Amino acid sequence: MSTPTQLHDLSVAQLAAKLQSREVSSVEAAQHFLARAKAHQNLGAYVHINEEVTLAQARAADAAIAAGTSGKLAGVPIGHKDLFVTKDFPTTAGSKMLTGYQSPFDATMVTRLAEAGAVTLGKLNMDEFAMGSANENSAIGKVSNPWDVSRVPGGSSGGSAAAVAARLAPATTGTDTGGSIRQPASFCGITGIKPTYGRASRYGMIAFASSLDQAGPMARTAEDCAILLSEMCGPDLDRDSTSLDRPAEDFTRSLGDKLDGLRIGIPAEFFGDGLSDDVRAAVDGALKEYEKLGARLVPISLPRTELSIPVYYIIAPAEASSNLSRFDGVKFGHRAKDYTDLVDMYKKTRAEGFGDEVKRRIMTGAYVLSHGYYDAYYLQAQKIRRMIADDFQAAFKDCDLIAGPAAPNVAWALGGKSDPLANYLADIYTLPASLAGLPGLSVPAGFGEGGMPVGLQLIGNYYGEAKLLNAAHQLQQATDHHLRQPAGIAK
Ligand code: GLN
Repeated sequence: MSTPTQLHDLSVAQLAAKLQSREVSSVEAAQHFLARAKAHQNLGAYVHINEEVTLAQARAADAAIAAGTSGKLAGVPIGHKDLFVTKDFPTTAGSKMLTGYQSPFDATMVTRLAEAGAVTLGKLNMDEFAMGSANENSAIGKVSNPWDVSRVPGGSSGGSAAAVAARLAPATTGTDTGGSIRQPASFCGITGIKPTYGRASRYGMIAFASSLDQAGPMARTAEDCAILLSEMCGPDLDRDSTSLDRPAEDFTRSLGDKLDGLRIGIPAEFFGDGLSDDVRAAVDGALKEYEKLGARLVPISLPRTELSIPVYYIIAPAEASSNLSRFDGVKFGHRAKDYTDLVDMYKKTRAEGFGDEVKRRIMTGAYVLSHGYYDAYYLQAQKIRRMIADDFQAAFKDCDLIAGPAAPNVAWALGGKSDPLANYLADIYTLPASLAGLPGLSVPAGFGEGGMPVGLQLIGNYYGEAKLLNAAHQLQQATDHHLRQPAGIAK
């Protein structure tokens, strides 16, 4: 491994150590990343920056370090997906509906990371209300992939992934409902993990599909993800009724364990038609590395993989149609200017405030929940969701974790996939773990068509994050894909 020479080349672990030893101050680090964010504004990653707020936080971190009272992430600058509400920055969720919205409180994820000493650089672009796979559904603007600015960064956490890949932040937060951490991580050549459903509090994370939404870290290394995830997780029972009643864990505890004898399940359904050759080749390369590291590849089957697409695109819109009913012009965000009565105000506000994809989902969701269709669509989808979860449990009898591609292709061209169905189909490999509530990550596996990054997805059983992160860490000890930099953004 080469020795990093610039602040933005340091991992979170390396930067945190330099901050603790006071070789680098938090103010210096924050200024460095703010300057980079400004210099690479054209990527579109950041949507809200407030230097004064960031520098005030950095000064407080420096004081805490000097006083010896600081947390594990003291002074480390990070960016937050704009789905997490923040009291010091606006929150838009990528929607016109929330233009000018200012939250009176911080999301639990924001509070936890701040308590660990992290400094907020700003808020990051995303698909509107986290619905999308290319960040092209953002009302705020497009995000470019740092590896090729004519391509999408993935979505919905596209700004979070692009910022890390372009070294505009050492790490960021993302959210994953059906792949929104793993797929952009794969497209941008970084590492991102979605924990077991319920590990990360959803309090203050604007709801899309509540039974699926989870927060997680995005960074260049698995070790960094483990450090951040340890700070983010833990019960928040008073604020999120689906928060797991399990104590916070140190997810770095298994880093360094050898992989000898590890059984990696290879689902046949993840390698069938539709997987592009370049992604297959990169994924195969990573699997060979695992064999060299002592793991054994075990063929398994997840027979309902294909069904995860219709199931997800019934359940997620159903929940969204309910969650998004709160955006009606009364309590927060956009309100139409001219209206005749209350109903007219609702209608005009929602027609003006929501983008096409969000409207499509609200309508689909309302339809599948409506009288006469509920049993045929929503209930049926719930039953198959359960079977998908059962399929995983059957598979985990034969393996310790599951590996496959995170996405069927590398990042496509901006504007290249306008058909909503084509976008939905590309979610095929990330949806199953989401529906089952299992932890999953994407780790750089190599490069494909056009020199674009390819991510390997690893899925663990419930609460298996530490093992999962170590598996990704071991791959990163043996390969250097995660250390490569997109040309043009290095300086
Ligand atoms: N691409 C999926 C969707 O559009 C997943 C989004 C997400 O995980 N937030 O719903």
